[in-house]
Amino acid sequence: MWIAMLLSALAMTAIVGVRYLIVSGAFAWATRLRHPGLYTGLDPQVRREIWWSLASAVIYGVPAGVVAWGWQNRGWTQIYADVHDRPLWYLPVSVLLYLLAHDAWFYWTHRWMHRPEPFRLAHAVHHASRPPTAWAAMAFHPIEALTGAVAIPLLVFLIPIHVGALGFVLATMTIMGVTNHMGWEIFPRFMWAGPLGGWLITASHHQRHHEQYGCNYGLYFRHWDRWCGTDRGIGDFTREHARARRRADAAARGADGGDAGGGVDGARRSEPGHAA
Ligand SMILES: [Zn+2]
Ligand SMILES: [Zn+2]
Repeated sequence: MWIAMLLSALAMTAIVGVRYLIVSGAFAWATRLRHPGLYTGLDPQVRREIWWSLASAVIYGVPAGVVAWGWQNRGWTQIYADVHDRPLWYLPVSVLLYLLAHDAWFYWTHRWMHRPEPFRLAHAVHHASRPPTAWAAMAFHPIEALTGAVAIPLLVFLIPIHVGALGFVLATMTIMGVTNHMGWEIFPRFMWAGPLGGWLITASHHQRHHEQYGCNYGLYFRHWDRWCGTDRGIGDFTREHARARRRADAAARGADGGDAGGGVDGARRSEPGHAA
């Protein structure tokens, strides 16, 4: 029994780690195509983000693996496999319940982690990414990773969910975790501006959290921030993107301009950008 449980924990750790590398890697690659130069000079930071994230994969993987084992072998949890066990309308409702519950848990633990002691002890690791990249999605100190790791494994004991709907929740969690730190908006404008955007969290909202700290604590939705007076609106990527463009242009001129002055000129022209 213990061996099977351990194997399940190991398998889940591998799944979480590989999922992180694939999803963050894909969005980091998309960033190179869409905004070349955005992560230039951040290599040491990216390496740190990857190491912390892989350590977090173990902390996420172990409780998830143990619960998955119990679901398969002991009938633990409220996860159901036959979609007709409950009415079909319950599928989207269960997804929404999970996202709302996870969001509430995240908002309050995240807000607590911004108090001086827990911040110094744990959350500073996540905020060492300035600005964060697509690799920062799971860059947490183990204490913080633990508060995140227990949320879904506890919820599956409380709220019934179809295994496919649970997969959808986990996919949403992964994609939002990565894209919120990516440094640009991948979603259409109505999702982050206008009436609907006023209630949803995407990169523009979380960007402001990483700039100003004491605000915008939510994960998926803005209602807790709005109710508690901690919502400071959305950030703006224009400056960062202009700087990235200047860096990419300078690098391109340096690469194909040879030593005929192009590279030097490019470097010189990019100087104010670096200083700003
Ligand atoms: Zn963050
Ligand atoms: Zn924070």
